[in-house]
Amino acid sequence: MKTALVIGGGFAGCASAHQLSLMGGWDVTLVEANPFLGAGVRTMWHGGHPHTFGPRHFLTPFPHVYEYLNKYVPLRRCPDHEFLTYIEGDGAFYHYPIHRDDIPTMPESKQIQSELSELTGAVAAKNFEEYWIQSVGRTLYEKFVDGYSTKMWRIEDNKQIDDFAWSPKGVTIKEGPRAAWDTAMSAYPIAPNGYDDFFDIAARDATVHLGTRIEAYDIPNKEVVIGGERRRFDIIVSTISPDILFDYSHGELPYVGREFHPIVLPTEFAFPEHVYFCYYAGKERFTRIVEYKKFTKHKAPTTLLGLEIPSAVNKLYPMPFESEKAKAQKYFAEMPDDVFSIGRAGSYLYNVDIDDTIDHAMKVAEALRS
Ligand SMILES: Cc1cc2nc3c(=O)[nH]c(=O)nc-3n(C[C@H](O)[C@H](O)[C@H](O)COP(=O)(O)OP(=O)(O)OC[C@H]3O[C@@H](n4cnc5c(N)ncnc54)[C@H](O)[C@@H]3O)c2cc1C
Repeated sequence: MKTALVIGGGFAGCASAHQLSLMGGWDVTLVEANPFLGAGVRTMWHGGHPHTFGPRHFLTPFPHVYEYLNKYVPLRRCPDHEFLTYIEGDGAFYHYPIHRDDIPTMPESKQIQSELSELTGAVAAKNFEEYWIQSVGRTLYEKFVDGYSTKMWRIEDNKQIDDFAWSPKGVTIKEGPRAAWDTAMSAYPIAPNGYDDFFDIAARDATVHLGTRIEAYDIPNKEVVIGGERRRFDIIVSTISPDILFDYSHGELPYVGREFHPIVLPTEFAFPEHVYFCYYAGKERFTRIVEYKKFTKHKAPTTLLGLEIPSAVNKLYPMPFESEKAKAQKYFAEMPDDVFSIGRAGSYLYNVDIDDTIDHAMKVAEALRS
């Protein structure tokens, strides 16, 4: 048997352990700092309502990833998922992504239409602010994007974001269906415990060390110290921040985190039909509020909202700065071929979602087969 170490038991780590188990011939050790698998995607309960830490809505353009997850945690499609943004100055909610049909209802609609008619495309944009202004005009940028983005990243100025191509998820201004991302399959697990069964099934053939951190890393030699014991592995799949593996030798990689606040309300539903999230683009401390029932279909006379506040209390979102991505590359360059760094923190890429983590794990298995 060949030996594999999987570092981190979130989606990427669990999917990796599972892929190795499906391949056969691997003795897998999985080390997870938390006392549970799944990280923020694990189902928690508040006021009798199931929820995750933030939305964790399953969206994917990849049929093979959908079919794979659906086999272990049957999914319910939610193609209607609409998002709204609250614009305090207008006292109004509008669709997000910005929808062309909402523009006539905005107080500055003439100005916005005129700016839109003058756009020539974001070909020469050097940063996030330029990209958005060139894509939707200054008025819509200032209304929907400017304050939201600086709040979300805890930065002073959106010009700091020079890795900006990810942000609009391919859409800056939308026409047609109101659903937020109608080009992807949108779903959530049917089971009340959400994705949890996947984590447990995926890791069942591995030796799992929960509540454990690796004490020392020697990545070039694929050796680590776990529980005082020095161990060598044939491969390592790491899903944690790559700076940790090298004792921050090129400097620490920055992240922004979130505080999460669950709130129960004495009403069956708080948001209009089809609306799953509300974003807040102004001075509110929170970025968005999610109504969990919309995903979970949990039945109760009350409803549960989850409110997210950008914070430094945890490290959840890699920063979208080219300089920091270049720093991450220095760590990747020091990893031998049979050390894989995947998942959101492991790739140091903000736009790695649940489906991408599964895809990364499948690609590791593909690489090992070839
Ligand atoms: C608030 C929020 C909302 C989101 N909503 C969505 C959504 O709606 N849809 C979507 O597709 N994606 C969403 N995402 C993104 C998606 O959930 C993540 O991309 C995905 O879960 C990342 O999985 P991962 O395994 O790469 O990382 P993680 O889930 O972060 O897992 C890494 C694991 O490693 C462990 N770990 C860290 N350091 C160590 C260490 N030193 N030793 C051992 N273990 C360690 C952590 O405890 C954690 O369990 C959201 C992300 C956030 C933060």
